[in-house]
Amino acid sequence: SESPIAIFVPGRINPRVLDRLKTVFDVINGSVDALDADQKNRVRGIAVSGKCDAAMIDAFPNLEVISSFGVGYDGTDTAKAAERGIIVTNTPDVLNDEVADTAIALLLNTLRQLPRAENYLREGRWAKEGPFALSPLSLKGRSVGILGLGRIGLEIARRLEPFKVTIGYHTRSQRSDVGYTYYPSLKEMAGAVDTLINIAPGTPSTFKIIDTEIFKALGPNGVFINVGRGSSVDEEALVVALRERTIAAAGLDVFFAEPQVPAELIALDNASLLPHVASASVPTRNAMADLVVDNLIGWFKDKTVLTPVPETPVKK
Ligand code: NDP
Repeated sequence: SESPIAIFVPGRINPRVLDRLKTVFDVINGSVDALDADQKNRVRGIAVSGKCDAAMIDAFPNLEVISSFGVGYDGTDTAKAAERGIIVTNTPDVLNDEVADTAIALLLNTLRQLPRAENYLREGRWAKEGPFALSPLSLKGRSVGILGLGRIGLEIARRLEPFKVTIGYHTRSQRSDVGYTYYPSLKEMAGAVDTLINIAPGTPSTFKIIDTEIFKALGPNGVFINVGRGSSVDEEALVVALRERTIAAAGLDVFFAEPQVPAELIALDNASLLPHVASASVPTRNAMADLVVDNLIGWFKDKTVLTPVPETPVKK
């Protein structure tokens, strides 16, 4: 009988991925450096949460498929994979609702300072010092611009409708299926709105596009929410904009060099900060884990994957 197909899992991943993979494959979990040549030769698939760069891909001569945990796959070198004919998959759609819900929560937390208000109560200050200070900002009457109106951006827009704000978006190509105001340029949108939500992917085309100019355009009543990727933001410019009140506040779930968060950002009282938790509920992470595993099972069963990324050499 044939030996089971070996799947390499670098570093940490959702435990459900490992549990399910182990029922079907020979799972090798650890660091690439710890593997011998025989193990490297046997690996035909990778399941990864985080980084899968060119060096990792080239460590495995018989690699066929990389199943990446998460919808954003900026940690995987898709160009290198495509060059070698290796399939890359991600986990779209199953997390849309969770991430959109978190974006709304982060928006409200940022505007109304609710995490700070809870800390105030927990620290016993309510009884001693009286009511928590009024929040200077409110969602009422705001004009929201969404950078990226894809699967998740659209769910955020739909959730914003009952909040009675105006809704616009910027993407490279206008959508024909929505009535929200389209802005052909990010700067134009930032100038027209007072609330900017980023839910675009982290790619070379979005690298540091949210910069000093954008914060200036957003203005002193401006609020910036980031649930997309930290690489899309000039983080030093953001710190300056918050400190000098070029914009009023920011709510961030993602950062430029995670898990490092600049001390300057943590020190600011007009920033609401989360440790990249937008999709991080047990039910949603379980659904993502299942998709990671089912893509691998599908590939080794009949060479079909459920959710290939657009850069990958095969289509569905
Ligand atoms: P989609 O691919 O469905 O949507 C991406 C959207 O971004 C599209 O509307 C696209 O439109 C737009 N876009 C891409 N490049 C640019 C650009 N250079 N300028 C302007 N708009 C651009 O992705 P999803 O909605 O599924 O996910 C979006 C991203 O959200 C993920 O890639 C991931 O990085 C992030 N994310 C973060 C999470 C978190 O935990 N904080 C959780 C889940 C996702 P067009 O191509 O027309 O420009």
